[in-house]
Amino acid sequence: MKFTNSKSIYEKSKNYIPGGVNSPVRAFGSVGMNPIFAKEAFGSKIVDLDNNEFIDYISSWGPLILGHGSKIVHEGVEEVFQKGITYGLSTEKELKLAELITELYPSAEMVRMVNSGTEATMSAIRLARGYTGKEKILKFEGCYHGHYDGLLVKSGSGALTFNMPTSKGLTEGITKDTLVGRFNDIADLERIFDNFGNKIAGVIIEPVAGNMGVIGADEKFLKTLRKLTIDHGALLIFDEVITGFRLGLEGAAGYYGIKPDLVCFGKIIGGGLPVGAYGGKREIMKEISPMGGVYQAGTLSGNPLAVHMGYNLLNHLKNNTQIFKQIENMAKDLEKGLAESAQKSGKKVTVNRVGGMLAVFMNDGPVNSFEDVMNSDTKLFEKYFKGMLKRNILLPPSQFEGLFLSAAHSTEEIKYTIESSYKVFELI
Ligand SMILES: *Cc1c(COP(=O)(O)O)cnc(C)c1O
Repeated sequence: MKFTNSKSIYEKSKNYIPGGVNSPVRAFGSVGMNPIFAKEAFGSKIVDLDNNEFIDYISSWGPLILGHGSKIVHEGVEEVFQKGITYGLSTEKELKLAELITELYPSAEMVRMVNSGTEATMSAIRLARGYTGKEKILKFEGCYHGHYDGLLVKSGSGALTFNMPTSKGLTEGITKDTLVGRFNDIADLERIFDNFGNKIAGVIIEPVAGNMGVIGADEKFLKTLRKLTIDHGALLIFDEVITGFRLGLEGAAGYYGIKPDLVCFGKIIGGGLPVGAYGGKREIMKEISPMGGVYQAGTLSGNPLAVHMGYNLLNHLKNNTQIFKQIENMAKDLEKGLAESAQKSGKKVTVNRVGGMLAVFMNDGPVNSFEDVMNSDTKLFEKYFKGMLKRNILLPPSQFEGLFLSAAHSTEEIKYTIESSYKVFELI
């Protein structure tokens, strides 16, 4: 398998784009190879500049729940192009999308569109502080909430991959109000609330962590968190940028039966265009400008194209809820197959799965916390990644990212992926 064209574009890109990429994980740094550049994609397949074709388990990191180039998501886009793609005025489609999101996700009684997941979490944090009049924010180790300064402490994903638990360029002033708790550790949570409870404006969490592999929150942990936040007048913020409309129509809130005060969306709700949103209780959302004193704005927020595609996708999911089950069933088969393939070769591997999200940890397990994740054999992951790639399977190029299945994946592809996994684990 040759990557000549990708390499050539990468070498040139490095002169003009830091690291040759516009988002760090695309650099393939943690799997010890040069990045692959995409040429085109359709359904579950992605084709690179050297015409290698892969089964794609990155799925653009989550938005493409119906796969690449979905006619359903793209329906009517031409018309939007013709009528104007941005006005600087509001459109009726924004109302329709807001109505749909609030219908499907009842904890969001009102919703504000932004342009990325990062903007959504950043704005939700500002709102939590503005609403409660308190300063501290609690986040958890290994949870990633975008690259907003105040949350870029002990983050997952790209930050983990590059061994930068904290970024440079953060002032003490910004991070001093960020408390970091241990994911799934109830005693730690109680200790934090004992010490800082009345100072905490909000607690932000990925209910299913998807940026340190995949780790579902323990139900008891989340319930304790919900109770402690209510008792102390802190807002509970679910970061559902990955889980929203992936774990089901009501995301992790529906999955666990726990209602947050605020919620952040991204990825799926734009159908592949750059989008985010945050929502929550009416009483809290009323504090946002121009109704209230918490300022937040966006030149392209609620962009007609993005809103159109997001609406198409969410509306399709609403009318075809079997998609979640279909994806989960494939993920279950994959989970079982990959785990058995590792077992057969005697490798120490743990496969975590929640709904249709899964991760292969090169690790004895169980993997329930950030610490557990950090025990993984990243060298072995690199070999596994490369072995699978040779068999035309594109896994996320990092031990700390999850696999994303879409409705476009087929049971044959899952079968082929499992067969390949047996072969690769034998070899490495
Ligand atoms: C991707 C992600 C974000 C950031 O979204 P961007 O659109 O990349 O800014 C925030 N939170 C979670 C859980 C994510 O996975």
